[in-house]
Amino acid sequence: MIFETLSTTGHEEVVFCHNKDAGLKAIIAIHNTVLGPALGGTRMWAYKTEQDALNDVLRLSRGMTYKAAVAGLNLGGGKAVIIGDPNKDKSEALFRAFGRYVASLNGRYITAEDVGIDVNDMEFVLKETEYVTGVHQVHGGSGDPSPFTAYGTLQGLLASLNKQYGNEEVGKYSYAVQGVGHVGFEYVKLLREAGAKVFVTDINEEAVQRCVDEYGCEAVGLDDIYDCDVDVYSPCALGGTVNENTLDRIKAKVICGAANNQLATDEIGDELTRRGLVYAPDYAVNAGGLMNVSIEFDGYNRERAMRMMRGIYYNVGKIFQIADRDNIPTYKAADRMAEERIAAIGKIKLPHMGNVAPRFLGRTRGQ
Ligand code: NAD
Repeated sequence: MIFETLSTTGHEEVVFCHNKDAGLKAIIAIHNTVLGPALGGTRMWAYKTEQDALNDVLRLSRGMTYKAAVAGLNLGGGKAVIIGDPNKDKSEALFRAFGRYVASLNGRYITAEDVGIDVNDMEFVLKETEYVTGVHQVHGGSGDPSPFTAYGTLQGLLASLNKQYGNEEVGKYSYAVQGVGHVGFEYVKLLREAGAKVFVTDINEEAVQRCVDEYGCEAVGLDDIYDCDVDVYSPCALGGTVNENTLDRIKAKVICGAANNQLATDEIGDELTRRGLVYAPDYAVNAGGLMNVSIEFDGYNRERAMRMMRGIYYNVGKIFQIADRDNIPTYKAADRMAEERIAAIGKIKLPHMGNVAPRFLGRTRGQ
């Protein structure tokens, strides 16, 4: 049954990690390592069933393969889940036991933070293995990725404006930004610096007020964001907000934002194309965080990170080209771009050469 699933999803390896004393129940899924070691965060969640945990880790790890491939990174896709309540079940032993499993994979899987995990938890993992990214800056880590993700989103926006309007004058257009948290706030700042008209909403009223006070944005109600008469809709909060209920309300001709899984269904993506909207695929646009941690391998450097973010402009542009070439919606073109790159790079490798585990330079472990 499980191998049947794996043959459909294309996973290479799934590791079930168990340590009774530490209370560890975790699953590491390595989807594809053709381009390089599988990188992806660890999520801690009180899954209702073990099957839910397995489904989640398989889905998320596959997503990481596509994201890294489109980002042009020499990384494959992987992910881990720890079954447990992040508010109750965390301990040093749990994370160190998990770290030993990551270590046992000798660099085939590299972990990072995800939902339910913070930088302090990762310190324990780092005591057992060097194959951890997103560690604290005192250990040579890259720190908060949000400003980079916002800058990367702006690069995706430039490519999208070019595609829809034939120019990249950010300040000429108006924007509806949903969610002004870590990424959204930084993104709004960039839009306002370019002189754009920006509407914002968030369930956190303080965050909205900050945008109004500091950047002169216009606040709108949570549900009103879809009705704004703007050129660009930028989801920077939740997934699934482009759906059958919002589609007719969104007046923007461009959708570009940092949120994951913006399209509720594939059919919605098809419909966007039919209606002549330009949709910048979410995982291509929001790759800034992944790009940022990937630089930790050979010594983190902020300038290189910013340079890499600018690549998102070309990646999104290439997705639009593939969409035109094959006459397909952009969300499908992103997947195709990933698959074509994996196939092409897979062919240049000599059969006896595996992927060499990366070395982390300029990093410290433990205190
Ligand atoms: P965050 O939690 O800091 O910000 C999200 C904001 O959305 C919060 O301020 C929250 O109050 C708001 N929000 C939640 N529900 C809302 C609703 N219904 N309507 C309006 N606002 C709502 O998270 P973030 O790090 O800024 O990430 C934003 C999105 O970008 C997420 O989807 C995340 O998965 C994605 N993303 C983030 C990064 C990164 O570098 N942080 C990288 C890739 C993708």
